[in-house]
Amino acid sequence: MSRVAEVFESLEYGPAPESTDLAEAWLDRYQRSFGHFIGGIWSDEGEGDRFDVANPATAQVIASLRQGSAGDVAKAVDAAREAQSGWWALGPHGRARYLYAIARHIQKRARLLAVLESMDNGKPIRESRDLDVPLVARHFYHHAGWAQLMEDAFPGHEPVGVVGQIIPWNFPLLMLAWKIAPALAMGNTLVLKPAEFTSLTALLFAEICGDVGLPAGVVNIVTGDGDTGAALVGHPGVDKIAFTGSTDVGRIIREATAGSGKRLSLELGGKSPFIVFGDSDLDSVVEGVVDAIWFNQGEVCCAGSRILVQEGVAETLELKLRARMETLRLGDPLDKSVDMGVIVSPAQLERIEGLVAQGRTEGAEVWQPSWSTPREGSFYPPTLCTNVAPSGTLAQVEIFGPVVVLMTFRTPSEAVAMANDTRYGLAASIWTENINLALDVAPKVKAGTIWVNCTNVFDAASGFGGYRESGYGREGGEEGLWEYIRPVWQADASEEVEPEPNRPRSRSRASGDASPAAAAAEISTAVPPIDRTAKLYIGGKQARPDGAHSLPVYGADGALLGEVGRGNRKDVRDAVEAARSAQSSWATRTAHNRAQILYYLAENLLVRADEFTRRLGAVSGRPDDAVAEMDASVARLFTYAAWADKWEGRVHHTPFRNVTFAMKEPIGVMGVVCPAAHPLLGFVSCVAPLIAVGNTVVAIPSEVGPLLATDLYQVFETSDLPPGVINVVTGARPEMVPTLAAHDDVDGLWFFGPREASAEVERASAGNMKRTWVSYGQARRWLDSTQGQGEEFLRQATQVKNIWVPYGE
Ligand code: NDP
Repeated sequence: MSRVAEVFESLEYGPAPESTDLAEAWLDRYQRSFGHFIGGIWSDEGEGDRFDVANPATAQVIASLRQGSAGDVAKAVDAAREAQSGWWALGPHGRARYLYAIARHIQKRARLLAVLESMDNGKPIRESRDLDVPLVARHFYHHAGWAQLMEDAFPGHEPVGVVGQIIPWNFPLLMLAWKIAPALAMGNTLVLKPAEFTSLTALLFAEICGDVGLPAGVVNIVTGDGDTGAALVGHPGVDKIAFTGSTDVGRIIREATAGSGKRLSLELGGKSPFIVFGDSDLDSVVEGVVDAIWFNQGEVCCAGSRILVQEGVAETLELKLRARMETLRLGDPLDKSVDMGVIVSPAQLERIEGLVAQGRTEGAEVWQPSWSTPREGSFYPPTLCTNVAPSGTLAQVEIFGPVVVLMTFRTPSEAVAMANDTRYGLAASIWTENINLALDVAPKVKAGTIWVNCTNVFDAASGFGGYRESGYGREGGEEGLWEYIRPVWQADASEEVEPEPNRPRSRSRASGDASPAAAAAEISTAVPPIDRTAKLYIGGKQARPDGAHSLPVYGADGALLGEVGRGNRKDVRDAVEAARSAQSSWATRTAHNRAQILYYLAENLLVRADEFTRRLGAVSGRPDDAVAEMDASVARLFTYAAWADKWEGRVHHTPFRNVTFAMKEPIGVMGVVCPAAHPLLGFVSCVAPLIAVGNTVVAIPSEVGPLLATDLYQVFETSDLPPGVINVVTGARPEMVPTLAAHDDVDGLWFFGPREASAEVERASAGNMKRTWVSYGQARRWLDSTQGQGEEFLRQATQVKNIWVPYGE
């Protein structure tokens, strides 16, 4: 008879299959044929074709779905529009009750939801049962709370309206919850398009909406492929698009919605670093890697797909990882003791195989465990790649499969540089027993979520979302709710008439000659005959424009006030370079120090109040308004000096033994095209909030009053403003804005100007997915004294990074 310890030596797992009976019965109830859920009823008419969905583990067809046409999408949007005012009128408590009921029903049907999810997507039942579905319920409970608290938490805000939501196949039900719960809580109605491969749990969710008596049209589900998604994106009745998926499709959506006024949040791809310092607990690290890249077969946008390990422990970690990979169990997703299920589709499997083959040709060494992978179904084994160059395909391209690369570093700063050597910025893990090191590195890694000594932990109370080409906007937590509301003052979308630059006096106007030569001639008749051409301001120095051209600036009475440099593409690029080199040192100064500099700017501006007021009066022709604008500008500098050390983050109550810090970080290098009206107040209103929170700025001032910005150079120079923090390029907008909007090293752009030009800015921003905030021809309203300052500006100037720090033994 063998002893217990010996039994453990050779113990094998037996099969532990989860029953599919419940799910099969549910599918049969619908004869395995589904339509769309529109206006509270199942609609199976329309011109769209049908398509089959298969269980990826068995390749068996499990249901037939309707391909949503543009007509179906239009019907769903109409239903959502019709329902929206009633849903909003229901009030916070009414909406909270429905969200609470949805959460309860999800819990009651948890088993069916988990089995159906695993059958449809191929993820292990262990994960759908223990992670996806509980988190979905948690999301609805949490957001039932936000619905209840909306009036207190977000005074002066209202729902965006009708929201179009498009989700991918990797977490079908969880992504649905991340989208639907906050939208409903804030009083919006919606149309959701699930992924073509994985729509079944969304359809079961529709049934749950019916069961809880959710008013018809509040939630509409339209199935179909990318064309259905594109129809939803393009529908003029949609006020906002919330998208999760690939960066390529995110870019298409950014371009397609440009100029439409639709709000946009994008949760896109990633190539997240998993940084292991030499002092880490390597056994914990190994389990971390399992969760980082083999969870959900690596089909996770924030998968830790790049292990960056400190050289001294690299070999040990590699050996430990190989040993652990040998014990991973891959197989039937419905087997309760399986660690890894099946890849969602043959097409995705082919993509993974193709990328790994490409990596091999580039010299990668590819290691897989010795056990064999099932032949039937789209299975792919856990895979560890070494000898990969940081620029190699495997290190740069999002594989979306169970493939991890391991690369080494020597110093913390090298680790940070390698971590940031990607176009993405979704998440990162940092492993070290040294809390100082972890919290030193966390702010330096450009990613929306940082997990310290943990990975892939999520909760409804914490925001999730990207930096850089991983997209913008947050899902979850207080920060996620801002995506679904807007200030009441933004509701009026009517376009204003933009002020034009003043024209020269009638003599020049008659000849129509506003050329620099004519201007120079005009200056020569004035006294004193000195050069009054203001230069550009780049890197703390006054710089001549590259093109050596200037533009005349006239007062309201047509008198020549002076000339400004006519900046071109090269000047914009120089300014961006200066802003970039100043950015990290400005961002890492203390908030107190930035506040001091803003106060100093106000103080020095005030010293020259008479001169600025005269100039403002000459530009506008309204001396009284000039006094008010001058006073408001000084006050506004004070406001942002005050905010600089008060625009704080939060600590989220996530239900683990950890603290989750939601830090507000600057976006980086920001372009700002200032409003034409109020040339001084407009400049201050945009630039001050941006620099208060640590951004550096390339500003294109008002074309009506650019001299108000150039007059500020001397104020900058006497106020301890470090070089490169504010850069000013004057000139003609059409010659500079496209360069700024398309520049890959500009992280965000505010544009205050007409609707058409706003649309072009949004379109051009898609290149590097920079964040944009455009006024669609409403600059004056935005800058009104009550609205032109405050939290909305600061929110647009920052992005939230969530840092998860566990504690305890
Ligand atoms: P996509 O970005 O193509 O799909 C995401 C969603 O958008 C799906 O519902 C899709 O429909 C829909 N869609 C596709 N084209 C359009 C369009 N032009 N307009 C509007 N909606 C559209 O991702 P895939 O599923 O094709 O996966 C491709 C790659 O994207 C993966 O290999 C992975 O690298 C990455 N990815 C990243 C995810 C993330 O969370 N970051 C999630 C999923 C994928 P349908 O699928 O029905 O065609």
